[in-house]
Amino acid sequence: MEEPYQYRDRIVVKNPDKEFRLGEGRVSGYLSATLGILSLLAVFAYLYPSLLTTTELRQLYDAEKLQIVLKYAMYASLILGALAFFKNNGRYKLHGLTGICFTLVAFSLGGYSIPVGPVEPRKLSIGVDWLILAFLGSIVIFLTLEKLFPKYKDQLILRPEWGVDLFYFAFNHLAISAIIIFANYHVSHFDWAISASAQDFIGSVPLPIQFLVIVICADFVLYWEHRAYHEFKTLWPIHAVHHSIENIDWLAGSRGHFIQVFSERAMVMVPLYLLGVGQDALNLYVTFAALQAVLIHCNLGLSFGPLKYVLVTPQFHHWHHSSEKPAIDTNYSAHTPLFDWLFNTYHFPKDHWPAEYGTTQRLPRSVISQTIHPMKVWLRPFRQPKD
Ligand SMILES: [Zn+2]
Ligand SMILES: [Zn+2]
Repeated sequence: MEEPYQYRDRIVVKNPDKEFRLGEGRVSGYLSATLGILSLLAVFAYLYPSLLTTTELRQLYDAEKLQIVLKYAMYASLILGALAFFKNNGRYKLHGLTGICFTLVAFSLGGYSIPVGPVEPRKLSIGVDWLILAFLGSIVIFLTLEKLFPKYKDQLILRPEWGVDLFYFAFNHLAISAIIIFANYHVSHFDWAISASAQDFIGSVPLPIQFLVIVICADFVLYWEHRAYHEFKTLWPIHAVHHSIENIDWLAGSRGHFIQVFSERAMVMVPLYLLGVGQDALNLYVTFAALQAVLIHCNLGLSFGPLKYVLVTPQFHHWHHSSEKPAIDTNYSAHTPLFDWLFNTYHFPKDHWPAEYGTTQRLPRSVISQTIHPMKVWLRPFRQPKD
C-alpha cells in the first residue's frame, strides 16, 4: 500500500528589517510615494479622460466627487513625504522625496481642480481609472484582511518579486478595454448558439437564481479552460507563468501571461452571453468574480467554516498553487469546488496548507522573460544543436 503523504508546515522566515513599523519613516515614505504616483496618474486621467479612462467604469463613479479624495491624497502625500524626509535616520528620504515630487508635478498640471466635462467615448482606451480604483480598493479590502487574519504573519507586504506582480496588476487593469473588445469579438462567433426561449426563461427567474446559474455555468467553462491549460503540453507554458508565484498574497494572483488573461475573459464571456441574463445579475457576478479571484490568493488564514465546501477559498486555491506531489493538477475551479469534486480533481486536506508553492521546473523571474517563456518552449525542438 502507498504511504500517506507527509504534509509539512510552510516556513516563512521573519525579516524584521523589511517589516513596516510605525515611527521609522518607512510607512510614511512608502505611503507618500504611492499616493504621489497615484495622484499624478489620476491627474493625467482628468486631463485626458477619453484616452485614459474606461467607458464602462466611468458610468459607475462620480468624477467630481473623486476629486475630493484626490485632494486629500495629494496633501497626505506631501505631509507624509515631509515626515519621511525629516526623520532622523533618513533611510526613507528618497521615498518621501519621490512622493513630494510626483505630487508637486500633479499640482502643477492642475491638481484636483481640473474641470470635469462630458467625455467622448472611445472604443480602445487605457484603464488608468480602473487601475487606481482597483489598487486602492484592494489595499483597503484585501491587505486589511491579510493583516487582520494572516495565514503567515511573518510574510512581508513587500515580499520577494512584489514588483513583478505589481507590473502584472497594472497591465491587467490598464488593458481592460482591449480585453473587453477582444472578449466581445470572441463571443460574436457564438450567435448561432443563442436560444431566445432559454434566454426568456432565465430572464424571468428571480435575481439570486440568475446569479447562481451564471456562477455554475461560468465555473464549468473556467474549470475546463483551466484544466486544458494544465493538461495540454502546448498550453501549459502560458499558464505556468501564473504558477511561477512562490509567495502568494492578494497581489500575486495578478501574475499571468497576457494570452491567458485575454483568453480567460473571452471564454467566460461565452456562457454570460448565451444565458442572456439581466444587467443586475451580470453586475453582481462580475463583482463577485473579481473579488473572489483576488481573495483566493490572499495570505488569509480564515477557515470559512462550512462555506469552504461551497466556495473556492484561499486554502483551496493555495493547494492549486502547490508544487507538492498530491496537489499537482488539482483544484481547477474558480468559484465553487463542485466540478473538481465531480471530475475527480479535488484535493483539500482541511488541516493542512501547502509547504511549497511554484512550478516543479522553475520559470525565469522577470516579466519579459516570462512573457517570452512559452515561445521559447514551443521553439525548443527546433533549436536542438545538431551533432
Ligand atoms: Zn492552474
Ligand atoms: Zn491562482
